[in-house]
Amino acid sequence: MKEYDSVNYRDVPLFRDVAEEDWNDWKWQFRNTIRDLDTLEKIIRIDEDEERDLERVLQTFRMSITPYYACLMDREYKRGSVRLQGVPSIEELAYDPDDHEDPLDEDVDSPVPGITHRYPDRVLFMVTRICSMYCRHCTRRRMVGVQDEHLSTRSMDQAFAYIEDHPEIRDILVSGGDPLVLDDGPLEAVLKRLRGIDHVEIIRIGSRTPVVLPQRITGDLVTMLRRYHPLYLNTHFNHPAEITRESRDACARLADAGIPLGNQTVLLRDVNDCPYIMKKLVQELLMIRVKPYYIYQCDLSRGIAHFRTSITKGMEIIENLRGHTTGMAVPTFVVDAPGGGGKIPVMPNYLLSQGDRRLVLRNYEGVITTYTQPENVFSDCGHCRICEDERYKPLDGVAKLLAGEKLYLEPADLKRRRR
Ligand SMILES: *Cc1c(COP(=O)(O)O)cnc(C)c1O
Ligand code: SF4
Repeated sequence: MKEYDSVNYRDVPLFRDVAEEDWNDWKWQFRNTIRDLDTLEKIIRIDEDEERDLERVLQTFRMSITPYYACLMDREYKRGSVRLQGVPSIEELAYDPDDHEDPLDEDVDSPVPGITHRYPDRVLFMVTRICSMYCRHCTRRRMVGVQDEHLSTRSMDQAFAYIEDHPEIRDILVSGGDPLVLDDGPLEAVLKRLRGIDHVEIIRIGSRTPVVLPQRITGDLVTMLRRYHPLYLNTHFNHPAEITRESRDACARLADAGIPLGNQTVLLRDVNDCPYIMKKLVQELLMIRVKPYYIYQCDLSRGIAHFRTSITKGMEIIENLRGHTTGMAVPTFVVDAPGGGGKIPVMPNYLLSQGDRRLVLRNYEGVITTYTQPENVFSDCGHCRICEDERYKPLDGVAKLLAGEKLYLEPADLKRRRR
C-alpha cells in the first residue's frame, strides 16, 4: 500500500513555531487563511512582476488560502498545479467576450434564494457563500468570496419551505460556497431539518475541505454526519499532488462512517489537462476510497478563461482511461450547458455503425467488433409493480418522445410557427 507524506509545515519559516495542536485545528487554519500579499510572500517566492500583478488582481478578486494548502505549493515554481489553483493571476482580469457572470443560469433557475432547481428530482442548496479557500477557477465566483455570508435565517426558511412544498424533490445537494465552513451545530440543524422532510431520500454534501482543509473532518463531525444517512459527500481533488496523508486520513474518517465519497474534478489548463496526470489522479483517488464521479469542462464564468481547455482534451482523457484502467476509476466527462441545460456527457465514439440487426463497436484497443441484436426485442412488460405508479407520471424531454407522449420537441420561438 502506498504511504502518503504529511505536509511538513515546520519547513516553512512562517509556521515553524505553530503548535501541532493549532495546526491540526481547522478553526486555527480557517482563522489564519492567507489573504494578503505580505503573508503569501513569506511562504512562496514571488518575483517583482508577479507582485505588481497580484496587487492589481487583489483589488478586484479576493484571495484566501488555508495554511495547509499553501504548504503544498512549490516555493519556487510559479506554474505549479497547486499554486495555480490558489494564487491569483493577472489573467483573471482579462476580458473575454465569451465570459458570463452566471453561465449556468443558476440564479435564473432559482425559485428562492439559495436553491437552484434544474433537474426534476433534485436541487442544489447553497447554504453559504463562504469557502475556506477561494479556488481561482471557481465557477461560482460571482457569489463565492464576494461577500462573506451564510444564507440568512429567512432565506433558509424559504428554502426549506420550497423543498417541503415539492414532493418530487428526493435528493438535496448541500453546497455553497463550502457547507463545511459551518460549525457542526448549524450544519446539523440543516441536515436535521432536511431529514425531517419525508420525501427527501438522499442528502449529498459538496465540500472541498478534504482537499484544502482536511483538518475539518473531525471525529465529532463524522459522528454527527452519520446520523443523517443515506448521506454522500462529493469533494474536489484536481491533481495527485493534493493527496497527502492529511487528505487521505480525512477521507478515511468519512468512509469509515459509511459516507460514500465521490470526486468532481475540473479540467484545468496547465493543472491537469493531461491523460497521465488524470490517470494517476483517478487511480490514487480509488486508493483513498474516493470514486471519481465527474470531470467538468471548465465553464464560461468571468475571469477563468486562462484555465479553459478544448472539450477535445477531455475526450482524449476519457479515451486514455476507459479500458486502460478499471471502470471504477473512470468519471463521466461533462459539459455544463450554458443557459442552464445541465450536465451533458461527452465521450469518444464507441459505436461505429449500425444496421437493422447488427451494431459495429470498437473497444479501447481498436478492436472492431459486432453485436447482433435479438430478433424479438419487445419485453413482455406491464406486470411488475414498479411501473404501476411510475408510468402515469409526466415525463420530460427526450424521454417523452421515446414514450410516445409527444411526436417532436421544438423551440418555443420557432420562426416558421409564427408565419
Ligand atoms: C450538478 C447539479 C446537480 C446534480 O447533478 P447530478 O448529476 O445528480 O450529480 C443538481 N442541480 C444542479 C443545478 C447541478 O448543477
Ligand atoms: S471550494 Fe468550490 S465553491 Fe469554494 S471557491 Fe473552490 S470551487 Fe468555488
